[in-house]
Amino acid sequence: MIRIRFHGRGGHGVKTASRILGTAAFLAGFETQDSPVYGAERRGAAVTAFARISETPIRERGMIAQPDLIVLADDTLLNDPAAGVLVGQETASAIFLNAADPAPLVAQYHIAPPARAFDVTARTRELLGRPSALSAGVASAAAKLCGCITEANLEAAVREEFSHLAVSPDAVTKNVEIALSVFAALEPAVLSDVPRAATAEMARVPYVDPVLGASTVYNSGNAEQRHTGAWRVERPVIDAGLCTRCGLCFVECPDGAMSLDATGLPLVDYDHCKGCMICSHVCPVDAITHQPETAAW
Ligand code: SF4
Ligand code: SF4
Repeated sequence: MIRIRFHGRGGHGVKTASRILGTAAFLAGFETQDSPVYGAERRGAAVTAFARISETPIRERGMIAQPDLIVLADDTLLNDPAAGVLVGQETASAIFLNAADPAPLVAQYHIAPPARAFDVTARTRELLGRPSALSAGVASAAAKLCGCITEANLEAAVREEFSHLAVSPDAVTKNVEIALSVFAALEPAVLSDVPRAATAEMARVPYVDPVLGASTVYNSGNAEQRHTGAWRVERPVIDAGLCTRCGLCFVECPDGAMSLDATGLPLVDYDHCKGCMICSHVCPVDAITHQPETAAW
């Protein structure tokens, strides 16, 4: 069995990536299984998805603690121990990094499995004009590393899965193009059958009395302590020269992450701005640009 674990943030499309991979493997004649797990269902929050591919019926269930392949859509998650990106890396035959050059990440985070990389974000931005919705490229990386899925299987799976989403025919064509370019650029991983512990766990969460465990929920005025800025994929940056001080972005920000200075210029609280970009959409003079985040805030 090949066990694949995807990591990304809400908006990256790792749930869809696991579905595309599962469908591609099914079309290739394998038994497959795919499932996601996420906590806060919001853009930018950490998301993990799992896929299993086997020639025989799959009786294993649940999270994958000992993967053969780790596929990472956003390297800022390596800064977040709770995301568990490198959990079980001892059994992994390869890790895919969404990056142009994997070497700095491998050195900084002591990544053990052989690293394969492709800048899926850049390719997606090139074709779709945005740095999120990476599902086709990330699924393609996993499909190629598995070594048992053909280009035709992958293309059919991308078309099948996108047919269930509200996307235009042009977007489907571009996602196929992204998938095929990633597929062509990578080599299959050399999968090794490392012995696995019988009861590996992704995370062990101790039982806490509900009242004690939920104390931060009961406390009033606790939003300030939740640094949702770490969820951001893009950062709003205000051009003070273009801004007319109309205040619309300040009013429309759903997180109260903006304030106004003495001149009426909006200031963004990057600890709490979650990057929804509503402020940018409502700005009548396009004074707020989208800057890609390169590290967790
Ligand atoms: S992107 Fe803009 S609207 Fe959204 S949370 Fe940040 S400041 Fe507020
Ligand atoms: S909506 Fe645009 S012009 Fe109005 S205050 Fe915000 S940045 Fe300035």
